[in-house]
Amino acid sequence: MKFNIKDTFTKELPADPILENYRRPVHACYSYVNPKKTSNPKLVHASPALAKELGISEKDVQSNKFLQIFSGNELVPNTTPYAMCYGGHQFGNWAGQLGDGRAINLFEMEHQNKHWALQLKGAGETPYSRNADGLAVLRSSIREYLCSEAMFHLNIPTTRALSISETGDQVLRDILYSGHPEYEKGAVVCRVAPSFIRFGNFEILMARDDKDTLKKLTDYTINHFFPHIKSGSKEGYIQFFQEVTDRTLEMLIHWQRVGFVHGVMNTDNMSILGLTIDYGPYGWLEGYDEGWTPNTTDSREKRYRYGNQINIGLWNLYRLASSLMPLIEEASPLEAILEGYRDSYEHEYLKMMKSKIGVYSEENKDEDIILINTLEENLHLTETDMTIFFRNLSNIDKETSTKSTFLATVEDAFYSPEELTDHIKEEWNTWFNMYLSRLQREDLSNTERRKRMNLVNPKYVLRNYMAQLAIEAAEKGDYSLVEEMYQLLLKPYEEQKEAEKWFAKRPDWARNKIGCSMLSCSS
Ligand code: AMP
Ligand code: MG
Repeated sequence: MKFNIKDTFTKELPADPILENYRRPVHACYSYVNPKKTSNPKLVHASPALAKELGISEKDVQSNKFLQIFSGNELVPNTTPYAMCYGGHQFGNWAGQLGDGRAINLFEMEHQNKHWALQLKGAGETPYSRNADGLAVLRSSIREYLCSEAMFHLNIPTTRALSISETGDQVLRDILYSGHPEYEKGAVVCRVAPSFIRFGNFEILMARDDKDTLKKLTDYTINHFFPHIKSGSKEGYIQFFQEVTDRTLEMLIHWQRVGFVHGVMNTDNMSILGLTIDYGPYGWLEGYDEGWTPNTTDSREKRYRYGNQINIGLWNLYRLASSLMPLIEEASPLEAILEGYRDSYEHEYLKMMKSKIGVYSEENKDEDIILINTLEENLHLTETDMTIFFRNLSNIDKETSTKSTFLATVEDAFYSPEELTDHIKEEWNTWFNMYLSRLQREDLSNTERRKRMNLVNPKYVLRNYMAQLAIEAAEKGDYSLVEEMYQLLLKPYEEQKEAEKWFAKRPDWARNKIGCSMLSCSS
């Protein structure tokens, strides 16, 4: 196994001069630290699709060398692993230095003109571990591993996952924060992205008044990841902020499209490249509910609920804007970009929602907004499965559907059909009539429209209970469900006849089960 090593972060940015591994404030961009050795690593799964992108052969993936490197036991020659320094706003408050508390970057590499950073999550203590152990458990690692790859195949910008291994070591966790910690199986995921830089990497430098390093980091980020922008100038920094804003919004619109709720949109969990990053207590909407969040830590305020993600994106961009202020020294261009976010949001959101219902022509915008708003209100009338509703909506026939068949088309999406009172049925009829007449004004045939709708409305998503089933089996040593989910989610928009059981509402047993409905940050 040979990697074309191309380290840039450590080559171009200031390092922490201290090499010992103890917790401390670090006045630099990163600290050198090696992964912890694991006692008995075992490969749970590896992503053939990503291995190929990195030029790793199938044979190499199965090798002992692969396992040793990507569980943290062996270093690739001439590499110098490191943990990054960043800060962040957590739940709206400045939290000071955070940093890679349990992530260790192994190296950067190039393959077929693409640049990648490979990092281990759960690989042991770093100077940024604060009061925690630097480890990760199998359950949260499976969730991160499966979801990163699932998001990628949904065409959503995300960090990737190359492999997941059990470490053979035990990790103590108190899942419910109830004062009863228990030992669980430890695991390590190898994550992959062009870069893992976050908003928080910039925030910490601004907070410390370190303009010199801030400039170095910003120029580095522009030169490597936004090469069409000229670094070193005020105009370049403004353009950089504009592009980060655009990418962030684009990512969030995708989340809304598929019903993904991140759960912890702190600024340290916002990638500067607009990638979905740090899969913790995330979840997928089952019943369409704008107020839903899977994160138990946020259950009171619900700051990071589904319906608030776009607003939080803007809030986080304000934090990034103030971090870049020392370089730009003028607020108005940044304010203009942030104000522009609102307009773009309305435009992009409407476009996305129109694509979900198969309406494309530009007619009367206000009427289309009413059509979408009314649909969203109706989806809240009784518990209605988001994924099933939109997928089955494509079966509406604009020539032959009528009042008597509207609801039958989407009935599989209703969790309690008996709750559909006459009044609710009437609300739906009114909407379907509006919808049908809108479809009749479109040129597309039913078949064409269905095809296009099915490219944006996934048939399969990683429902919370599905991940939980894979986890429970894996904890008993059976990885077959991890493989089944992985294979299923490679083609989320395609019909997979043999997988019809995963195109179903959440079963009743999963409604209030930990891991299926609510998740804590304990991982
Ligand atoms: P998160 O909420 O997972 O985004 O983590 C917030 C911060 O806590 C980051 O700096 C993480 O690296 C750190 N962190 C989370 N879990 C652990 C752990 N088990 N050991 C050390 N640091 C951790
Ligand atoms: Mg994080």
